[in-house]
Amino acid sequence: MVDLKGLQRATKKFIDERDWRKFQTVKELAANASVEANELLELFLWQDGKELDKEILSGREKELIRKIKNETADVFFSCLAIADQAGFDLGEAFLSKLEELDRRYDKKKVKGDPTKIPSKD
Ligand SMILES: [Mg+2]
Repeated sequence: MVDLKGLQRATKKFIDERDWRKFQTVKELAANASVEANELLELFLWQDGKELDKEILSGREKELIRKIKNETADVFFSCLAIADQAGFDLGEAFLSKLEELDRRYDKKKVKGDPTKIPSKD
């Protein structure tokens, strides 16, 4: 298993070795995360999600799976870079968010029915 703090340190090292920090702001990195998320989404554009999942899970879509891994890693890299630039621990932020979601989405109320998810406000 890969340690998230180790990944955050590796991201920092990668950025510092290339002297890219001077070009990066949290805003630019957030924009990059959005672009990368859209590159991931583009892989599925105009395709039936359920049919595609069957193909992916069957292992027949090896090239698509390679692209999904690649774009997902790009999104993750952007998230790690944001955490590095803004000076927070992404693992702690994630666990904090998970606790918030656990409180917001009562298991008994939403189990098996995503239409019962309350609005954000
Ligand atoms: Mg990409």
